[in-house]
Amino acid sequence: MKRIVIALAVALCLGIAGVVPAGAGAFRVGEAIYVCGCGAKCPCDEVALKGGKCTCGKDLVKAKVTGVGKGKVVVMVEGKERTFKTVGKYACACEGCNCKTVSQAAGKCVCGKEMKEAKR
Ligand SMILES: [Zn+2]
Ligand SMILES: [Zn+2]
Repeated sequence: MKRIVIALAVALCLGIAGVVPAGAGAFRVGEAIYVCGCGAKCPCDEVALKGGKCTCGKDLVKAKVTGVGKGKVVVMVEGKERTFKTVGKYACACEGCNCKTVSQAAGKCVCGKEMKEAKR
């Protein structure tokens, strides 16, 4: 039993440290990204590599990536840690655009174009 607990704790520590295989997740630890600043209540859950307007109409706020996981990114935003999904229902569809905008709500990308529904 004790061994399982230790193994879990180690796994958790590794997860927090952001030790993930190369290629997992679109963002890197220590990178500055932009996220929706409305808090957990906001359904848009938007993340982007560039600053701009969120689908909910507010400005995205700057955040620092503190951890990445499968399909999610942990960021420090306004002194609090929050987890955002990196697999959105909607994503930036512009070619050559490097904004990496992902949102759970339909709307415009930070680059001003309409986002497309992501393929599953
Ligand atoms: Zn929002
Ligand atoms: Zn874009």
